[in-house]
Amino acid sequence: MATSGKVIKCKAAVAWAAGKPLSIEEVEVAPPKAGEVRIKMVATGICHTDEHLRQGLFPNADFPVIPGHEGAGIVESIGEGVTSVTPGDKVILLCVPQCGKCSFCLNPETNFCVKEHMFESQCVLPDKTTRFTCKGQQIHHFFWVSTFAEYTVVPQYAVAKIDAAAPLDKVCLLACGFPTGYGAAINAAKVKPGSSCAVFGLGGVGLSVVMGCKAAGASRIIAIDVNKDKFAKARELGATDCINPQDFNKPIHEVLIEMTTYGADYTFEAAGKLDTLAAAMTSCNPSTGVCVMVGVPKAGSMLTIDPMLLLTGRVWKGTILGGWKMRDSIPKLVSSYLEKKFDLDVLITHTLPFAKLEEGLELLRAGKSIRTVLLF
Ligand code: NAD
Ligand code: ZN
Ligand code: ZN
Repeated sequence: MATSGKVIKCKAAVAWAAGKPLSIEEVEVAPPKAGEVRIKMVATGICHTDEHLRQGLFPNADFPVIPGHEGAGIVESIGEGVTSVTPGDKVILLCVPQCGKCSFCLNPETNFCVKEHMFESQCVLPDKTTRFTCKGQQIHHFFWVSTFAEYTVVPQYAVAKIDAAAPLDKVCLLACGFPTGYGAAINAAKVKPGSSCAVFGLGGVGLSVVMGCKAAGASRIIAIDVNKDKFAKARELGATDCINPQDFNKPIHEVLIEMTTYGADYTFEAAGKLDTLAAAMTSCNPSTGVCVMVGVPKAGSMLTIDPMLLLTGRVWKGTILGGWKMRDSIPKLVSSYLEKKFDLDVLITHTLPFAKLEEGLELLRAGKSIRTVLLF
């Protein structure tokens, strides 16, 4: 392409400091170095994690930074040695990389990778430099992918080629929200047919958990949110009961234990709060229950629990991106979407031009959207 090997000037949303609004700036995007890929973004979803980052609550992050991690685009140019994609390919950017070489990547039981952000910050590329500059200043990447930019540069193991027929304005959700929630049910909890499930938080992630529980054959899916406007969609996707903790004069875990006799078989926390995490843990079956933490509490927070909760046998676990090894699995999920094995469109409540990013973030903060997709 004509831009190959050149610095590209384009628009990107920069978070200059924690807690400050994002500002759309003209940035310079350097060409990809060896092993890297430069991508022209086509669509990106807005996930709560981007807002969490903007507020300065996400672990291992550095400012100034370009957020965004639910993106799909087209390869513009590739650095030396890149073999997995070529210019013109449709791709999904992977916020959980798969280097293919570390002990985690070689273990089929996990999607963790030593290149993962929780292990070593992905706010710089593997050579410890960034490809973004603005007003003479280096701007950090987020999860390596920084999808709130017209162009971005990622290492080749953080990008996957997908079917050329895929609509990027829909499958961008396969970069985070949908596989996280759906995989939490299918891969992390391994929900069994006929079981009971409880899901705390009904955003894009929690509703995808509901879809996963339904697909796995759960007979009871209790959806919990403090915003009752989320209930209609939860019911449409398979929730059998929708409850608001504020409607009860006793703790929500007691309500759930009563509803399920001893506690639900599987509980999921997808609100990113400590109190809901404790409630999810306490409201699963004391012996055979599995509680999966999906939401991300603010960096550095601590939770005290009674260890006797674990003695009886219940399992408490977490999941990153629903357990999918992303480079292997995301292209397959794209194919499954094209074969109509699950729906993504139902999660997209708003589509806006990239310039209206702030409006999209405000819809999320106000609880008025599930997923807003920004188009470049
Ligand atoms: P969202 O903001 O769209 O949804 C969160 C929902 O939780 C909202 O509907 C809100 O009303 C509800 N909520 C808030 N407080 C509650 C309470 N006390 N009880 C019940 N419900 C409550 O967010 P999202 O994009 O769906 O993301 C959900 C969480 O998942 C976030 O913490 C996000 O950072 C995290 N996340 C984790 C992963 C992962 O890999 N584990 C991936 C993506 C997102
Ligand atoms: Zn996300
Ligand atoms: Zn690895």
